[in-house]
Amino acid sequence: DQDLRDLLLSRIHDVPDYPKPGVMFKDITPLLADAEAFGALTDAFVALCAHHGATKVVGLEARGFILAAPVAVRAGLGFVPVRKAGKLPGATLAQSYELEYGTAEIEMHADALDAGDRVLVIDDVLATGGTAEASLQLIRRAGAEVAGVAVLMELGFLPGRARLESALAGAPLEAL
Ligand code: 5GP
Repeated sequence: DQDLRDLLLSRIHDVPDYPKPGVMFKDITPLLADAEAFGALTDAFVALCAHHGATKVVGLEARGFILAAPVAVRAGLGFVPVRKAGKLPGATLAQSYELEYGTAEIEMHADALDAGDRVLVIDDVLATGGTAEASLQLIRRAGAEVAGVAVLMELGFLPGRARLESALAGAPLEAL
């Protein structure tokens, strides 16, 4: 609702020219430091878990971990990390994706999801959509279903939503 949106937006700060000139970075640390705002955000994500029938919560490194872990606990669901390549100790599935310049790779433990799982992916910001798209490919390759993608903030001036469309295959993209 509008009150939640206003509260969340008031706690996200614009930082110009970070991490490089010309980029306006959305800093969520003021939101994390505000118990009311962080709690309200967590509750909203928990409601999405229930609404979309999630059985597992995936968080995307690194800010997605901070947001998704309390959601998983409050929703009574397991948490699964999707990490940058080279950080997970066990057997992994890896997925590379295109960046503006070059490529990146993310990984998930190969046994982290069960065939019957319905997974909600949580992250802070949807920008170009590359990270979220790759995470959906990992979830499908693991044999699980995608319940949806839920982000705090979608950068509407970037084509992230369009890039995600085919990977979502009808599952919802929710931006709080
Ligand atoms: P994408 O793959 O959609 O281009 O980038 C999304 C990833 O980069 C997310 O994991 C997100 O944390 C990070 N990211 C990109 N831009 C911003 C930003 O302005 N603020 C924050 N907090 N994260 C960003």
